Amino acid sequence: MVDYARHLKASLDAIRKEGRYRVFADLKRHRGAFPAADHVTPGGAKPIVVWCSNDYLGMGQHPRVIAAMHEAIDSVGAGSGGTRNISGTTHYHVELENEIADLHRKEHALLFTSAYVANEAALSTLAKLLPGCVIFSDEKNHASMIEGIRHGNCEKRIFRHNDPADLEAKLKQVPIDTPKIIAFESVYSMDGHIAPIATICDLADKYGALTYLDEVHAVGIYGPRGGGIAERDGVLDRVDIVNGTLAKGYGVMGGYIAGTRDLIDAIRSFAPGFIFTTSLAPAIAAGALASIRHLKGSDMERARHQERVRALKSRLAAAGLPVFQNQSHIVPVLIGDPVHCKEVTDRLLDAHGIYAQPINYPTVPRGTERIRLTPGPHHTDAQMDALTEALRGLWAACPAAVGRTGKLAAE
Ligand code: PLP
Repeated sequence: MVDYARHLKASLDAIRKEGRYRVFADLKRHRGAFPAADHVTPGGAKPIVVWCSNDYLGMGQHPRVIAAMHEAIDSVGAGSGGTRNISGTTHYHVELENEIADLHRKEHALLFTSAYVANEAALSTLAKLLPGCVIFSDEKNHASMIEGIRHGNCEKRIFRHNDPADLEAKLKQVPIDTPKIIAFESVYSMDGHIAPIATICDLADKYGALTYLDEVHAVGIYGPRGGGIAERDGVLDRVDIVNGTLAKGYGVMGGYIAGTRDLIDAIRSFAPGFIFTTSLAPAIAAGALASIRHLKGSDMERARHQERVRALKSRLAAAGLPVFQNQSHIVPVLIGDPVHCKEVTDRLLDAHGIYAQPINYPTVPRGTERIRLTPGPHHTDAQMDALTEALRGLWAACPAAVGRTGKLAAE
């Protein structure tokens, strides 16, 4: 007989031994007071400050978003009641798709239950619909794109991260009349690098490729209306397919793609990850709609966010901590070892009431384990000072970690 439990335990023991077994923090956010939260443990609840949320702008606490969700529940109830095709398309979904299409200046948009599902469904379906398709994928693309490409069963060429020269060398090897898709992200979530979108679009034009851009870590946050890096760079019209989330900058939940009418119609008609699942709850769609509308008209959150990011980066650098330099809102502090990384974040939480989840392999390559800080518009100077002081103390007490991070930070 197969000893199922033994196989599973062996796998779990292996990641425990490497120091990368994941432990969830049980949190209760304080409504209207984010980044304050309670950390719930068997010993009781303890107040903490959250430093690693992807609710980048605090929109999950915005009164307009909360009011819109209440209004939707009060008027149409809890769930959508079905797949999009079978009774699950509510007016909130229709309005939200129109709002997203307008945000990215595209003909149409299509909602999914998450941006992960959107990436997986869109890329795998496109690969199957375009005979002989070759997908060119940035080496640091998110797992959802990698899975989508894999399920598309097409040829894949991986190009060096944000490296147009390497991408061009690979594009040249494929006949001009072969269908091609270049899949990449605008803001890479773990390093905070920003892609050269215009240059990649130039290559797409030259070699006849479609561009598929994941703006998950940019929508709501960049561009005059929150349309992402492509909007900020004035290249919205040059990107064929945009993927975004409603869960991060917009603070709610759900994902989407936007593109031409035909492209969206094809994904809508053929993607199992869209067709065979219950649609988002109307209250979720209503909250996301309110969030997008608010951030289209209000730049205040984005301006304050960027100011807070600069303030934290300069504090950490002045304290001699190995902050990874980038042009985005993501603030990685490199540690380079999973055990040290967990130790540092445990001590931050237990001794200082500061919550920053350790980031380990496979989310980042081995040897680049890190703390990934995401300052938001609501983090105060006092909270930044407390974080910087706590990190400085831990670094001083842990010279082995400093040695490794010093090397990584210089790279
Ligand atoms: N794409 C990228 C680059 C991501 O980092 C993530 C999630 O973190 C996703 C897609 C998935 O987004 P969602 O949380 O909406 O599924």
